[in-house]
Amino acid sequence: MRAVSISASRPYEVRIGSGLLSDLGAQLRGLFDAPRSVMVVSDDTVSALYGPAAERSLRDAGFCSERFVFPHGERSKTLSTYAALQQALLTAGFTRSDLIVALGGGVAGDLAGFAAATYQRGIPYVQVPTTLLSAVDSSVGGKTAVNLPGGKNQVGAFHQPVLVLCDPELLHSLPPQEYQNGCGELVKYAMLSGDPLYSALLSEPVSRLPEQVISACVEIKRDFVQSDEWDTGCRRLLNFGHTVGHAIESCSHYAVSHGQAVAIGMAVLTRAACHRGLCTPEALSDLERLLASYDLPTHTDFSAQAIARAALSDKKRRGDRLPLILPEAVGRCRVETIPARDFVSWLRDGGLS
Ligand code: NAD
Ligand code: MG
Repeated sequence: MRAVSISASRPYEVRIGSGLLSDLGAQLRGLFDAPRSVMVVSDDTVSALYGPAAERSLRDAGFCSERFVFPHGERSKTLSTYAALQQALLTAGFTRSDLIVALGGGVAGDLAGFAAATYQRGIPYVQVPTTLLSAVDSSVGGKTAVNLPGGKNQVGAFHQPVLVLCDPELLHSLPPQEYQNGCGELVKYAMLSGDPLYSALLSEPVSRLPEQVISACVEIKRDFVQSDEWDTGCRRLLNFGHTVGHAIESCSHYAVSHGQAVAIGMAVLTRAACHRGLCTPEALSDLERLLASYDLPTHTDFSAQAIARAALSDKKRRGDRLPLILPEAVGRCRVETIPARDFVSWLRDGGLS
């Protein structure tokens, strides 16, 4: 097992190792002196696959285990699912000495985390990520949220988990597209940090070295979270590829998956930076080589105008200025804030029509 300590406003460990799911109860007994009630929050797919093992482990360790299951998919990350979860906690008699376990991908983690942040003004929660994306990204860092009809993650809170338990065995059942979503984020981490992650991802597919790659990504995320927990400074670098990526997801009505959209977003901005002499040509070819090795795309047919329109309605825009994350070289990225009206010409420099 590998362990990464995060010293945020609430310190906690991310533990990564095969078989950790069946050890969930024992791991929690190590954190809490008395057994408590635990609400395991999962979507229907994950609940069917891993709910029984989680609950068995909790009960064996003396916890009283309850289950909240919602239909899988982003469409469940709403205020109404959140309200149903709050009501389930109240009905089951949960108090601030009880806890929530988010067993699932980023949707379960964000939803359960936001419920934990707000139920009775805040109760502890544990993340048990079951997607590659949630293992390397969303389970760490304490951002929790649900969506509004007009926008993603518009209602949320910062609330750090008390523990993250990542069992890479659970990733074996992931559909290929969900695996690829995580790979888009892995490439992002490699571009932000450079070697050794960049070379590791090129030399072996992540599926062969999951513990090593997941812990490397968590360590990178740890450094960003520790220096900028509230996301006002360098943590924004984690949005590399995401401004354009979110716009592509939205323009395609989510037919293009998050990982693919982020891959295209990174490629577009890197081409634009290269065109403007802000980034080395080697960085562009290195990015393209890594994306190709994970079968991730680098182009979209959506026009620069369409992408700009969609991107400029994103919440990360401050007034008429738009922060762009630009690579200068592999392992070195920076934030460049541009006038929003210039964004279309950046996108054209990045190869969009
Ligand atoms: P998800 O939770 O919807 O999971 C994707 C799909 O995979 C679902 O259908 C799920 O049922 C299925 N699945 C999950 N684990 C499985 C397994 N082990 N085997 C088989 N199927 C499994 O989506 P996601 O991609 O994990 O996360 C996306 C969400 O994460 C978005 O809502 C995004 O906003 C959020 N996010 C949050 C942060 C953060 O810092 N909080 C960061 C990145 C993304
Ligand atoms: Mg992302």
